[in-house]
Amino acid sequence: MPARDACGVVGVSLQGKGAAPFLFRGLRALQHRGQESAGIATTSHNVMHHQKGMGLVHEIFSQELLDSLRGPSGIGHVRYPTTGATDLENAQPIIVKIRDEDAAIAHNGDIVNFERVRRRLQAQGVDLLGNADTEMMAQTIALEYGHTRDLEAAIRRACASLIGGYAVVFLVGNRVFAFRDPLGIRPLVFGTVESGVAVASESVALEMMGGKAVRDVEPGEVLVLERGQLAHTSKIPNTGESAHCMFEWVYFSRPDSVVDRQPVYDVRYRIGLRLAKEAPAESDLVVPVPDSARPQALGFSAGSGIPYAEALIKSRFVERTFILPDQRRREQEVQVKLHPVPGLLKGKRIVLLDDSIVRGTTLREIVQMARGAGAVRVDVRVGCPPIRAPCYFGIDMKDRRQLVASSRSEDEVAKVIGADSVHYISIPGLVESIGLRADELCLGCLTGRYPVEVPEERHRYQKSLAEF
Ligand code: 5GP
Ligand code: MG
Repeated sequence: MPARDACGVVGVSLQGKGAAPFLFRGLRALQHRGQESAGIATTSHNVMHHQKGMGLVHEIFSQELLDSLRGPSGIGHVRYPTTGATDLENAQPIIVKIRDEDAAIAHNGDIVNFERVRRRLQAQGVDLLGNADTEMMAQTIALEYGHTRDLEAAIRRACASLIGGYAVVFLVGNRVFAFRDPLGIRPLVFGTVESGVAVASESVALEMMGGKAVRDVEPGEVLVLERGQLAHTSKIPNTGESAHCMFEWVYFSRPDSVVDRQPVYDVRYRIGLRLAKEAPAESDLVVPVPDSARPQALGFSAGSGIPYAEALIKSRFVERTFILPDQRRREQEVQVKLHPVPGLLKGKRIVLLDDSIVRGTTLREIVQMARGAGAVRVDVRVGCPPIRAPCYFGIDMKDRRQLVASSRSEDEVAKVIGADSVHYISIPGLVESIGLRADELCLGCLTGRYPVEVPEERHRYQKSLAEF
């Protein structure tokens, strides 16, 4: 299996200023997109500097390390492994040779036709060091570059053969190339910062670098950032369609980001309003599962008139229960992560809001916790329709058997998690809350119908993988 990543990327090009402090701030703003490892690469006078490490951005990058990352252009990455080994080797950026020049690449997403592209590269005599799709992507570009001698064209040509969801930053010399898959599955936004320009997975990173978002990178668009300017942009031939991942608004992005023109906070609030209409509950309190379901719970409270209460408190220092390898440890971690406010829930009927249910482990623990704290009735409302099918484009939902909703009705899920009722937002409810059309979104994990061909799954586009 390739190393799959749901990650965060950032790239900057400045004039007369070092890129590293900007990249550092941008990566810290994207920390929620990956806590496994982080890395930065910069260039000054065509010399590449790079550092990466395991852990959180601020733990890895001391002032001394940042000072060693010289030069006005650079890229950065935070990694969240969804498959593949969790070690430094898989950390990004990855350094590769493009002809005789050092290049660095970092990427968020997944390549679906990984095996095919790998075999093609190997047939052309390319040695792949690891099995990360990021490296494969860089080598595909390098190979095309050998044919065209034009890097931007090489990227476009490579993208035409790489099927999947990806947002990539690529540093060669003093140029930063930033590009997004032809359907814009993974997010990428362009903006200005002091003395230059930048791209990032989320707008919040641009703002935390002291800049602001200007626009989203378009599906299939390649940007060239050079000397503090957006020097050039071009597009790979595409259908003009998009398939933005709905999960960015549901859970993944920060609520203070704007993703593909839709403010995440507002979307989540509307989800809550909508749920109050679609699935009302007779309750005394609306309680969010923190942190990710707060705006949804506020919306539900506004829509229903039921008071909102922060009855579950999340420890600031526990993270990542979701990706712990075994079920037992995930369950224990929920106990450490959340704790009820004494007295608040006693004798209360509560409606518990969560952003999404994947395996159901977390909610089962939380429902039990609420009952333990005296709640007499627990109705669960979920801000994402049932997740029934795997994600092949960078979100950690791999296996139908793990997905609690893949073969269960709402009532059956309620039994599994021990709730009095469970209602999910409908697909039209979610789509309207996001504010884009259904055919502009990737809803693959909800419908089992994907925007591009995935072997053995249904898809909405005409082209088959064999054509690439
Ligand atoms: P589960 O139902 O698998 O126990 O947990 C689902 C909860 O984990 C969701 O409510 C959401 O808040 C969170 N979650 C969903 N997907 C991801 C993911 O890819 N990574 C992390 N860290 N959390 C996730
Ligand atoms: Mg949650």
